[in-house]
Amino acid sequence: MGSVRSTSELQSRALLAGGVPAVEEVRNGIHAIALAMPAMQPTYAYSYAILAGGSSRDVHIVDAGLDTDANWETFCAAIEALDRHVTDIVSVTVTHLHFDHTGLANRIREASGARVRMHGDEAAAIRAGLQFSAGHDVGDKFSEWGVPAAERAALLEIANSRADFGSSVVVDDELRDGQILDFGEHRARVIHTPGHTTGHICLALLGENAVFTGDHVLPGINPGIALGGRRSPDPLGEYYASLERLEPYADAEALPGHGFRFSPLGARCAEIRAHHEARTAQAAQQLAETPNLPVWELASRLTWTGGWDALPVVSRVSALAQTDMHAARVATVSAAE
Ligand SMILES: [Zn+2]
Ligand SMILES: [Zn+2]
Repeated sequence: MGSVRSTSELQSRALLAGGVPAVEEVRNGIHAIALAMPAMQPTYAYSYAILAGGSSRDVHIVDAGLDTDANWETFCAAIEALDRHVTDIVSVTVTHLHFDHTGLANRIREASGARVRMHGDEAAAIRAGLQFSAGHDVGDKFSEWGVPAAERAALLEIANSRADFGSSVVVDDELRDGQILDFGEHRARVIHTPGHTTGHICLALLGENAVFTGDHVLPGINPGIALGGRRSPDPLGEYYASLERLEPYADAEALPGHGFRFSPLGARCAEIRAHHEARTAQAAQQLAETPNLPVWELASRLTWTGGWDALPVVSRVSALAQTDMHAARVATVSAAE
């Protein structure tokens, strides 16, 4: 399969330089438009414009970046440069409910009447308001996790400040796994990949050996897990199952939500899984030595960059949520044995 490599010098160079890549044609008639995420990590998100081709002027969009006036200008200029108008857009397919992917969807919809499409589970999560509460929904877990009372106030403040990952996007059509989307001269299969969020989808371009991976598989970043919607009792297990759903596309090029496009997809899936499994193995060892170790204690015994004691409060919230997932994974695996 080979190791993971960037397939776009333009994109990876821009990332390294701290900039935003220029529009790039990634397949015939498919253009990656990077939209800035000022003062955030990652620093930009991709919106992909697919020209229907032939005699049609239709444009289909996959993901819609972050909603800022500057991005709207960048986006409209990019569409004009492709000799199309925003009013030519007929669909906006969004990989998941996070605000850096849904961003411009409402504006595009208002300007063009384009239909906005997301997986049904994502639409349901939005209806339930879960997109606003699922960032690090940990406040009510602190006693269960054995967090010392003196630590709770600072952690809770961080948890609340990071809870808002969502947006109020209007969804016209609900997608389901296996559905084929017609983009004119291109077609794509919907692959439901729950994990990062409950209704996350990837889109496999038929006959192109390329997959839009959203935030399910990213280069250089291990995507966060369980950041929206219903929470699985075993979030890591659910995420691994979704990595396995991409096995038929192991040799494909990934067209991700952030960073740079890369290949082969399967190698990156394996890297991400190995990263998590190493930490689950650490957790399993600690829990074998001390059964029922509270999450707070367990977290302090796992390996974190710079060590647990040096970990800033802002990172501890995420670290606790991750530790909880590893403990859940250990419990699920041992129950299955
Ligand atoms: Zn996301
Ligand atoms: Zn994202």
